[in-house]
Amino acid sequence: MTVDQTYIDIIKNGGVVAFPTETVYGLGADAWNAQAIQKIFEVKGRPSDNPLIVHISDIVQLDEFVDEIPDIARTLTQHFWPGPLTMIFPKKQQVLDIITAGLGTVAIRMPDHPTAIDFISRTGPLAAPSANTSGRPSPTKTTHVRHDFGADFPVIDGDFSRIGLESTVLDITGDTPVILRPGKIGASEIEQAIGQKVILDKAESQSAPKSPGQKYSHYKPKAKVVYGEISDLDKHTLYLTQNNSSGSTNVVCYNGDLKKLSRELFDQFRQADIQGYDRVHIEEIEDFKPSNPALYTALKNRIRKAVV
Ligand code: AMP
Ligand code: MG
Repeated sequence: MTVDQTYIDIIKNGGVVAFPTETVYGLGADAWNAQAIQKIFEVKGRPSDNPLIVHISDIVQLDEFVDEIPDIARTLTQHFWPGPLTMIFPKKQQVLDIITAGLGTVAIRMPDHPTAIDFISRTGPLAAPSANTSGRPSPTKTTHVRHDFGADFPVIDGDFSRIGLESTVLDITGDTPVILRPGKIGASEIEQAIGQKVILDKAESQSAPKSPGQKYSHYKPKAKVVYGEISDLDKHTLYLTQNNSSGSTNVVCYNGDLKKLSRELFDQFRQADIQGYDRVHIEEIEDFKPSNPALYTALKNRIRKAVV
């Protein structure tokens, strides 16, 4: 789909626009315009110490933000870009502090979505977090963005996000690469590509999180989220089950399909609030870990943050 020129003009004039990607919808502003990026924080109500990801459409744009691209990053871009992998690089001095929250590093990714690529190729690199009010579940549909930001908010129409969970965030600035946020691309895939061990960061055990976003509660609906075995069904609870397809309208069965659960999780959180449920009860997914360890880890991370 070709993006309407109106949206390109909004970015060029220092505005913000929401756009679809394969992970979740992003809220973009010109990565070289601090005033425009300030609007992202205002629209979202996002704390200013939570940095943004720079979205690019062409590998040559990396040079605008990074002085020296490490070999391992070259390998990873060849394997996974465009795609749901964000890498943390040592930043060029001129990269705006408002993007990095004053850190010496910058997060960059190239989305695998034709609309996003068309958009960014015509605007230039965009600083973009997820297009939701801070603390709410990330948006995976155009309607989610409109719900948070209002019916008239500029959002480029798109499909239901194919993956539905945010990108894997990989810090490659140290000796051993560290996954700061698990996503569809898992540790073993990355290890295979680079022939080197990768560590999964244990955010909750750290007093000073390396990814500033880790310290904020995320992804939460208003309904209370519960994870574990299901015994009796209660009509005020929305159930996301693995085996129970009771036919009730408040029971959605996933049969261990982790891809489908990833795609729909945030939409179900939002549906639960719209339909007035008190709770969302997610049945355990432990048995299905071997089918997709990366999505299992990413889902457990999002569910843990929603349960807190
Ligand atoms: P969002 O796009 O809303 O999911 O937010 C971007 C995520 O990337 C947040 O979790 C940030 O903490 C993380 N992030 C962005 N830049 C950096 C950086 N330089 N170092 C570590 N994490 C980062
Ligand atoms: Mg976000």
